[in-house]
Amino acid sequence: RIVYVNGAFVPEAEATVSVFDRGFLFADGVYEVTSVLSGKLLDFDGHARRLERSLAELDMPMPMTQDALLEVHRRLVAENGIEDGLVYLQVTRGAADRDFAYPPKDTPQTVVLFTQSKPGLADNPAAQTGLKIVTLPDLRWDRRDIKTVQLLYPSMGKMAAKAQGADDAWMVEDGVVTEGTSNNAYIVKDGTIVTRHLGNEILHGITRAAVLRFAQEAQMKVEERAFSVEEAQDADEAFVTSASAFVMPVVEIDGAALGNGTPGPIAKRLREIYLDESRKTAV
Ligand code: PLP
Repeated sequence: RIVYVNGAFVPEAEATVSVFDRGFLFADGVYEVTSVLSGKLLDFDGHARRLERSLAELDMPMPMTQDALLEVHRRLVAENGIEDGLVYLQVTRGAADRDFAYPPKDTPQTVVLFTQSKPGLADNPAAQTGLKIVTLPDLRWDRRDIKTVQLLYPSMGKMAAKAQGADDAWMVEDGVVTEGTSNNAYIVKDGTIVTRHLGNEILHGITRAAVLRFAQEAQMKVEERAFSVEEAQDADEAFVTSASAFVMPVVEIDGAALGNGTPGPIAKRLREIYLDESRKTAV
């Protein structure tokens, strides 16, 4: 696999990052994940804008223009022959002698991009069966709107879910669901789609923004507000969204089956609409 590191396209075995990189020492960095279908990037503009915002919140500049970033993404997709898959982009504050205080502003950032090939990404069989979800307390920091590389708690959550025979976890704070370990969470009751309102408590999903727009265009009712686990268990259906899973139905929450225990019609329809529409604007 060819990866991008600080201006160079190199085989992964030759790619190096300093042991003093602040991403490694302090999780002082942000990332993005953009999906690729039929060799083209979905929602690239949204991901690039969110990257800029995440960096700005941490007082870091964009490492290059959005156009240059697109070219790096495209070259990696081409060099690695990616038809369907993902492109990861990681930007850290760079390498500096270990110190909690930020290094001088002219310290070069570390910029890494790599691809993952996922043949048939849009035909994931999980979309036919739906996900089983368990809930757990949300113990992450309070700036979840910044897409940082601090992913240990979500990683622990995923392991806890698997240990209980589930596929993924939703996190709960103050009695209401924030989001999934790596996705935004939704329920549907009497035809109304409910998903947590934006704020510091959740990541502002790029797929979320697109799906809510498509739902409104299709005259579906949408409410952006918090919901409890009990309300979710009593819902007609549920689903999650993310760049890598698109729209993925949820069929069980903490052992309670939703509806008839199979993916619901609104989740299935939104998945189709999202895939169709985002392919049209893919670059
Ligand atoms: N929430 C969290 C915590 C995530 O990690 C992700 C994606 O990685 C999402 C939501 C979904 O965001 P997006 O649709 O931009 O992939």
